[in-house]
Amino acid sequence: MQTQRNTHTRLLSAALLVFAMWHGSFAGESVVSAPVAMEIAIRAGDLRMVLENTGQGLRLAGLTDLVTSQELCPAEPAPLFSVVLRDVQTKDLLTITADTGWKQVDVASSGVMGTHTLTFAAPTDDRLEGIRVEVTLEVEAGDSALTWDLRIANDNPRWALWRIVFPQAAVRDLGEDAKVFAQVTSGVELSGMWTKAGKRGGPYPGGWTCMQYMAAYNKARRTGLYVGMHDPFGSTKDIFAEGQPAKEAVLFTFDHPAPDMGKPGVGFDLPGKARWQLLRGDWFDAAQIYRAWAMQEARWWPALGPAGREDTPKWMRELPAWVMTGGAASDCVPQVRKFAEAIGLPTGFHWYNWHQIPFDNDYPHYFPVKDGFAEGVAELKTAGVYPMPYINGRLWDTRDKGAEDWAFSRTALPAATKDEDGKPCTESYGSKETDGNSVTLAVMCPTTPLWQDRVSDIVLRLFSEYGVSGVYIDQIAAAQPRLCFDASHGHELGGGHWWTEGYWKMLDAIRAAKPADRMLTTECNAEPYIKWLDGYLTWHWQQQDMVPAFSAVYGGTIQMFGRAYRGGPTQDLANRMKAAQQLVYGEQIGWFGPEVIERADCWPFLRDCIQLRWRLREYFCRGHMARPPRLAGPVSTVTADWQWSGEWLVTTDAILTGAWRIPQENKLVLLFANVSDDPYAGRLDLNPADYGLAATPVTVTAIQPNAGRGDPPLADQRWIARPLAIQAIDRAEVELPPRNILAWEVRRIDGN
Ligand SMILES: [Zn+2]
Repeated sequence: MQTQRNTHTRLLSAALLVFAMWHGSFAGESVVSAPVAMEIAIRAGDLRMVLENTGQGLRLAGLTDLVTSQELCPAEPAPLFSVVLRDVQTKDLLTITADTGWKQVDVASSGVMGTHTLTFAAPTDDRLEGIRVEVTLEVEAGDSALTWDLRIANDNPRWALWRIVFPQAAVRDLGEDAKVFAQVTSGVELSGMWTKAGKRGGPYPGGWTCMQYMAAYNKARRTGLYVGMHDPFGSTKDIFAEGQPAKEAVLFTFDHPAPDMGKPGVGFDLPGKARWQLLRGDWFDAAQIYRAWAMQEARWWPALGPAGREDTPKWMRELPAWVMTGGAASDCVPQVRKFAEAIGLPTGFHWYNWHQIPFDNDYPHYFPVKDGFAEGVAELKTAGVYPMPYINGRLWDTRDKGAEDWAFSRTALPAATKDEDGKPCTESYGSKETDGNSVTLAVMCPTTPLWQDRVSDIVLRLFSEYGVSGVYIDQIAAAQPRLCFDASHGHELGGGHWWTEGYWKMLDAIRAAKPADRMLTTECNAEPYIKWLDGYLTWHWQQQDMVPAFSAVYGGTIQMFGRAYRGGPTQDLANRMKAAQQLVYGEQIGWFGPEVIERADCWPFLRDCIQLRWRLREYFCRGHMARPPRLAGPVSTVTADWQWSGEWLVTTDAILTGAWRIPQENKLVLLFANVSDDPYAGRLDLNPADYGLAATPVTVTAIQPNAGRGDPPLADQRWIARPLAIQAIDRAEVELPPRNILAWEVRRIDGN
C-alpha cells in the first residue's frame, strides 16, 4: 500500500523567502535555494496554475490552458482572497489580502490526493495577531478543475470579520468574439466587457442575481474559465462580473458578509466550495457544470419523478398560459373567462387587488376580501381557469390601518428585520397613505415564528375558505436577504444562510398543510427556494443579451411563467418576441392582460405559442433543456421597445430557437419561432452529439399551425403534424413563414 507523501514548505520571513525556492518535494530531501522568487505549479488536467511567493503572501502568477496555450490570468491578477475586518471599538474597516501582509505562509501538498493547503498566518500588522487563513485546493484532473475551500480562524479580541471576498478570479481578454456570462435575470452573455468599465451582478439570492457562477470564454478558440461558488445553502453574498479595461481583465467576485459579522473572536468557514474549471464551450456548457453540481448538492434541488415535479399538481406543471388582472370579481371574471375561451385551454389567472386594502398598503391585513371573490373563484374554476391571488411574503406596513400604526408596533416590530442600530429595515414602493405620505413597509425576518405563522395563516385561509388554486407569495425569490442584526431572532447576525432557511421552514409548513391539488408561486427566480415553490414569475426577464441559462440549469424543476407584457408603439412586435422567447425558454406563456385577444397584430401568434406549448407540454415538465439549435449563416434581427422601464429597446434574432429533451425516451423537440414580418429559409448547424443523436437514425415530425388562421377555435383543426424526410438532421433545411412557429419532434429509432 502506497503511503501518502507530503511535501511541506515553510516560507519564513520575507527576508529569507526571497532566497528560498520550492523545488518539487522536500520532505526528507534537500532544499534547493536560489535567488529567485518561489513558484508552485499545480496541474489539473489541461489547466495549469502557478502560485508565486510575494515574500509576504501568495499570488496567482499563471493560469494556463495547456491545450490551446491560452493564458487566462491577466498581467495584474486579483488576490486569491480579500478579507475586510472591522475594529470592534472604532468600527474602522481594514482589508487584508492573500498576496501581502503575512509573515508566515505554508504550502502543504499531498501528491497522492491532489490536495494542497495554503496557510496564511502571523500578519505583519501586529494589531491583527491571531488571524489566520487556510485555503485548501483539490485537483480534479478529469474535469481540468480546481476546487477551493477557505477557513478563517480569528482569536483576536479587537478585530472582527466583516466581509470575505472568495473566490475572486480575473480573466484576461480572450480575444475577438470572447464573451462573459454574468448573472442577470435568466443570465446574460456579454461582449466587450474587457473594453468597457462596469459591473454586472448584484446581491444573491435575488431576482436579478439568481445563481452562483460566471464564466469567460472564447468559443471559437475553445478556451475559457468557469468560476462558481457551489454553496448548497444559498448563503447571502454579492456576485459580480466587472470589466477592468485598464487591466485588460474581467474580474469575477463572490463577496460574503460574514455570519455574526462584527463579533470579535468569530471565524469563517466558506459555505460549500468554490470551483475554477476550464471551459471549452459557452454559456450552455457553463450551465451544465453548475447543473451537475446543483443536482447533487444544492439543498433546493427537488425530487423529480418520471413525470417531473410530482409534488406540483399536474395541472400546474402543464398549464400553457397566464392572464393577469384584478379587482372585484364583477370587474375581472368576465374578461378572464373570455381570454380562456379564446385559447380553449386551461388558463392560470394571477388575481391582484382581490382584497379591500389598497395595493402595497396596510399589509398583511388582506382580509376581508372584496364582494364576490369566493363566487368568482368558483365560477372561474368551472370555466377551466385556475385563480391564484396575490399576497406579499415579506412586508408589514408600519402604519397598517390607514395612516394609523394599528398592529405594527405592538405585534410585528419584534419580528421585523433590524439594522445594526436596532432600527427596523423599511422600504417604500410608491404607494401612498391616506395622508399623502409614502407607505413605509417593514421587511419581516423570515426566521421568526410570528412571520412564518402569519404568512401560513393567510395562504391556508385562501385555500380553505375561498378555494383558490394557488397563492402567489410576492418577493421571496426576488428581494435580496436583509442583513438582520436583531439578536433576539436567534440567527447569526448579518451574513450566513439563515435567511433562506427561514423561508424553507415557513414554506415547509405551508406545503405540509395545503391541499395536494393547490400550488404556490413567487416573484422572480432566485434559485434557493425552488424545492418549496411550484412556479417562479419570470416577469423581469426583459434584458438585452439574455440567454436561457436558468432554464438550462433548472428546466423541469419548477414552472416558469409570467413575463411583463407592456404597451407602446412597437407593442405587437415586442409581444411576439416575448412570447416566442418564453416558448423556447420553456416558460408558460403570458401574463397577458385579457384584452390582448383583441390585438390582430400579435394575438394569432401568441395563441399559436400557447397552443404549441400545450401540445409539447411533457417536454417542459418531464424533460430538460438541450442546447438551443443554431441556424447557419446570418439571421436577421428585430428590435422593439419592451417598455420594462421607460423606453427599453431589446434586439433579438428574428428566429428564436430552443430545444427540450426527454432523454429516457429518446425524444427531442426543436423549436423555431419567426417573430418578424419576413419569411425565413436556412439550414441548421448543430452537433447531433449535443442531443444524444450521434450516428443514430431518427424520425422527424414537423408540427406547425395550419395556414388558415381564423379557423374554428378547436385546437386540433388549427394544427398539422407531418413526417419529414430528413437525411442529416445536423444540416436540415428550416423554412418559416412570417410570424410563424414550428416544432420538430425528433425521435431516435435505434431503441438505444
Ligand atoms: Zn432577523
